[in-house]
Amino acid sequence: MVTKIAFLLAVVAGIVLFFRMKDKKQIEKQSNDTINAVEMKQDSICGSFVEDTTKYKVKLHDKIYYFCSDECKNKFIEKHTNNS
Ligand SMILES: [Zn+2]
Repeated sequence: MVTKIAFLLAVVAGIVLFFRMKDKKQIEKQSNDTINAVEMKQDSICGSFVEDTTKYKVKLHDKIYYFCSDECKNKFIEKHTNNS
């Protein structure tokens, strides 16, 4: 009788572990997708790479330019407004 209960507990523990591992795999997969979804753009002022979700961006002639900081963004705007 005791061995039967122990066996059942082992089966239940196995099922719980199986589902936990499955959940973990799904979470890992989701985080990988998130990483892939973020595109890296080059800051044309200092040359560093920034995520396209950055708030430092300027739309000019239907093209979006990305920057690492307000400083680079302002330099870009200055450069293009002085020329026109
Ligand atoms: Zn920069």
